[in-house]
Amino acid sequence: MKPAGLGRVLALVLALALPARAAAVPATITVQTARGATQLAVRMDRLAGPLVHGGTLVGLLNGTIARREGWYDLTLARQAFRFLPGAPAFAFNDRLQPLAGTAVVLRDSLFLPLQFVAEVLPRVLAERYSWDPRTARLKELVRTPPPATTIARLPNGLRPGHVITVDAGHGGRDPGNPGIYFPRGLREKDVTLQVALLLRDELKGRGIRVVMTRTTDTLINILDRARYCTAECELFVSLHVDALDARARRRFGEVSGFHTIIIGEENTEDADRIANMENEALQYEDAPAQGANDLDYILRNLQMNEYLRESARAAELVQEELAKVHTGTDRGVKQHNRLAVLNTARRPAILVEMGFSTNPNDARLMTRRSSQQSLATALADAIVAYLLEYDRKLGAPSAAGNGR
Ligand SMILES: [Zn+2]
Repeated sequence: MKPAGLGRVLALVLALALPARAAAVPATITVQTARGATQLAVRMDRLAGPLVHGGTLVGLLNGTIARREGWYDLTLARQAFRFLPGAPAFAFNDRLQPLAGTAVVLRDSLFLPLQFVAEVLPRVLAERYSWDPRTARLKELVRTPPPATTIARLPNGLRPGHVITVDAGHGGRDPGNPGIYFPRGLREKDVTLQVALLLRDELKGRGIRVVMTRTTDTLINILDRARYCTAECELFVSLHVDALDARARRRFGEVSGFHTIIIGEENTEDADRIANMENEALQYEDAPAQGANDLDYILRNLQMNEYLRESARAAELVQEELAKVHTGTDRGVKQHNRLAVLNTARRPAILVEMGFSTNPNDARLMTRRSSQQSLATALADAIVAYLLEYDRKLGAPSAAGNGR
């Protein structure tokens, strides 16, 4: 802020200024720090009110003071305060705040209003300074650095408090794929729910909080599903069952296995087939699909850039763990840009196709209780491995400052 345009602002600030305190003004104050206690004289000025010597105060508090364009810039506890002599205000974080008195310059020395010491510092830097009005003492509080290992860990090494969203694909009047080799009456929506509930229990047993998009045979809007994974949620996991088109019947026996899909620009070979299949759920929505506006597109691209690496890592770990229990082919991690359920995700997100219902072996694996349990355990192991990496990244000092 330039001093030139200040008149009007100051007039406004003056109107808002706190009334001067009627309390008795001490003749001296004490500044107490880890380096000792020092007395500082209070000087009464007819116009400016009670003052303390700025240079001495700032020196005692290990701060700095610099003069720039008529302003005095103070740095205390790494915070910046600015004073303009004669103005009943100071700037903190570029915002003007009113003062009852003013800073003044007397014989080349800056004097600061006592109110700055007695009220402002203990208020805006409360964790650093306290003021005792009875003894007129400003105390610099010693900060105790947190011990290196204060964060409790669960037996599996995770810190407590992780949140995962598990989405059982389809549901209600959206059956998903018909499950040609599933036992009679079972369809994709039933199998995804069965494994999702087992996965929920596995994750809970590992100390992870789970948010389910559904726990019963209900239809959840496909565009709403990923929104269950809010800011605190660390991964969105959508469970599905793949199937070949009925016309590809000759290949039912040879095509098997599991893959994990993440959002991405590189549509791989199966992309169109999977998108057509999984987006079919859109036809069951009551409301018209609203996922394609510009804002969604921008958000999706942001999300894509921000979480592509995390999503890809989670997907790799899921493939690794599923490979240990699955009898079908490891079909790898795939990228996709047209899957509605992933495109609405604002957090790391994966979609797991657990197997082909058009393959007899896969169908058996996905519907037997014991192998469903193995799938759920493998998925939970992968998620724990992912979160452990995530914890380590956050715990590393080099990664601490990147805002993630
Ligand atoms: Zn599906």
